[in-house]
Amino acid sequence: TTGPGEPVLELDELVMHFGPVRAVDGVSLRIRKGQVTALVGESGSGKSTVGRCIVRLVEPSAGTVRLGGTDITHLSRKELREHRRDVSIVFQDPAGSLDPRMLVGEVVGEPLRLQATRSNRRERAERVKESLRRVGLRPEVAERYPHELSGGQRQRVSLARALMSEPSLLVADEPTSALDVSVQAAVLNLLADLQRDIGFACLFITHDLSAVEYLADEIAVMYLGQLVEVGTREEIFAHPRHPYTQALLSAAPVADPARQRARTPVLLGDDLPSAMDPPSGCRFHTRCPVAVPRCAEEVPALRTVGDGGTVACHLVAQDGTGPDIRSDAAA
Ligand code: SF4
Ligand code: MG
Repeated sequence: TTGPGEPVLELDELVMHFGPVRAVDGVSLRIRKGQVTALVGESGSGKSTVGRCIVRLVEPSAGTVRLGGTDITHLSRKELREHRRDVSIVFQDPAGSLDPRMLVGEVVGEPLRLQATRSNRRERAERVKESLRRVGLRPEVAERYPHELSGGQRQRVSLARALMSEPSLLVADEPTSALDVSVQAAVLNLLADLQRDIGFACLFITHDLSAVEYLADEIAVMYLGQLVEVGTREEIFAHPRHPYTQALLSAAPVADPARQRARTPVLLGDDLPSAMDPPSGCRFHTRCPVAVPRCAEEVPALRTVGDGGTVACHLVAQDGTGPDIRSDAAA
């Protein structure tokens, strides 16, 4: 067990290559107990692969994954079993991640069975009902099959299952993006409530920046397999330093209508370059509106600037000042 403020998860220079595809290329990140870290970036940035390495659905090519102080990077399936309790994952598509042949009660209760606790059947059934209630479902749902439920209900089932083993870390990979817009907010609110009540740490993988503003304590921005900026939610929303972070934020809705009207999203033009042959120097240089010749030659180090955020950009000064590519940057 870990005390407050201690890292639940530590990634050190994590690398995951699939053949020639450099999906994750040197990611170092810590998540402390009870903290929500949002991992953001466009699709293809490697953020889901980071999540899969953490729950060891894939074995990393290099680097380390430490969970509660234990190095799980290369543990065997058998050795991993003990640590499976400490970390759970919820996927984007609840239909694809729930076994259609199992009753909801079996799905939710399965982590208890895998733990091989001595809890008898009746005890287990009680715990399943309790966890269904906790995610806002009636206990009778236990007797139904996943396909009989709506998408939102299925994602609630996924959450109930993921939290059954009382993990210290939950990886939530785009948990609402496959759902109807009308139920996205409810599932997100549920995740936020559960996180606050239970206090698990969470790696929240998403491209939805309004969800990030609502849920995250820390934000890590990923571009083509690498982190380009990490900071607290307050810092990143108030002073995004990396041009890519600024571009992402320029496209996110803001509450103030006057500010909303004043802004134009920064269009990055070209698609994300291929992770098989990432650009030299700063990987963002092919799309960066303020790139200088140095950017194509020299890899910018991820370094601490200003009052504590970290950023990888040649043009950000040590005190944290630098270019802002947004149209309403002065507002
Ligand atoms: Fe843009 Fe250069 Fe900074 Fe990369 S290092 S974000 S290309 S200014
Ligand atoms: Mg993804």
